[in-house]
Amino acid sequence: MSDYSFEQLVRQLFEATKQVDIALDELKSAAASIEEKYEPRTEFNRWRKSHEGKLWKQQQYKIQKGLCAICRQPIEFKGSHIDHKQPLSKYPQLALEPKNLRITCPDCNVSKGSKYTNYNLG
Ligand SMILES: [Zn+2]
Repeated sequence: MSDYSFEQLVRQLFEATKQVDIALDELKSAAASIEEKYEPRTEFNRWRKSHEGKLWKQQQYKIQKGLCAICRQPIEFKGSHIDHKQPLSKYPQLALEPKNLRITCPDCNVSKGSKYTNYNLG
């Protein structure tokens, strides 16, 4: 093997490594967008803004007779929150499980603090 072909080999190897790096970067960015798409909070926020989510909240509000699920005080629909009974951080698989969702007033939502995960429907 002459010096010239060795140099060529090194250059080819360098080029191949660069291609692998580019492919790896593309894979990483694809993985990040998949992760974001299936991140439970993102998924839940998308759902609650959807027609289905809004319909669920209207029905649930009627089921609860316009009362907070925790303190049982009357709440205004517009200012009510959707609460996860089992916190989203611990049970991401229940993010969109209707049985895990209930409507609460902002006070109960806030006082639950970091113990539970809550979302303001706005
Ligand atoms: Zn309440």
